[in-house]
Amino acid sequence: MKINNTNKNIYTNSTPSFKRYFDANMRKNFERMVDYYKRINPYLKDEDIMVMQNSIDSFNAVYKGAQTINTTNVENQIYNKFHIPADFKGNKFLASMTALTLNIFQKLRLPLPTGIKVAPQKGNIAGSCSTYTREITFNANEDWSDVQYCMIYQKLENWSSSGHFLSTPVHEFMHSVHLFNLHKLAAQKQQIVDSLYSKMLRDFLKMDFKTTMINQAGSPLINKNANRAVNQKVSEYGSSTPAEMFADIGAKMITYNLDRKTILPSKNPFVFKDFTEDKYMMQIMNDVWKGNVSQYIQ
Ligand SMILES: [Zn+2]
Repeated sequence: MKINNTNKNIYTNSTPSFKRYFDANMRKNFERMVDYYKRINPYLKDEDIMVMQNSIDSFNAVYKGAQTINTTNVENQIYNKFHIPADFKGNKFLASMTALTLNIFQKLRLPLPTGIKVAPQKGNIAGSCSTYTREITFNANEDWSDVQYCMIYQKLENWSSSGHFLSTPVHEFMHSVHLFNLHKLAAQKQQIVDSLYSKMLRDFLKMDFKTTMINQAGSPLINKNANRAVNQKVSEYGSSTPAEMFADIGAKMITYNLDRKTILPSKNPFVFKDFTEDKYMMQIMNDVWKGNVSQYIQ
């Protein structure tokens, strides 16, 4: 997930306190921002605002709790419970967010990433998921304690699909879910082809299905109808490539169903959800899931 590079303080009182823990002042500022963006962003709905309000409550609870945790303990617990290596480089807030996201994905019975680490990343990238290993990296250069404000801002701007503070880890985890399926489908195709052609012929015909599917998923979403629909119903960032669309729709579906107190899904959002009952969006989602994206890309 890339971070929108617009100046964050464009419509705040630019008070330095507009960071981290959401106190009464920040909530007032938030209400003012919502009033402003309701007038200029036609895609913003009441439900979007409600999700942000609930998320602020959850964020404040997590923010307080994160102060006292020991990141090495969290890494050990993650390894014992999920068998995933994690290295948070002492970042308490990322450790908390990752643990919460792992619990969500486990409850939804979705495939988990193969590893989690924190490392400096170039450019405005909050996090990334390796296309071949499905390992997730969070950018060590970001101020993660400021994540709730950043997510609200990006949602109000229609840049990202959800203003929930867990949007970024959920988005990256959704890349891993998508890649898990693409790897599986590619392996199935490869097995059939391997039994039919010699290695020399396979190399000559460039029959590397995994690379082909990954490249296609990362190609620009140029189909005009698809691009417009995703931009209006999901986010601007989600309309950039099929892979980003899948991750950002997933981030919205999951974070819009999180309980404010437990921060766990109150129901399985992949069963029924209003905006996915939109037949066209469902069609694109299914196509991307199966790797059939040639009609949407260049
Ligand atoms: Zn992404």
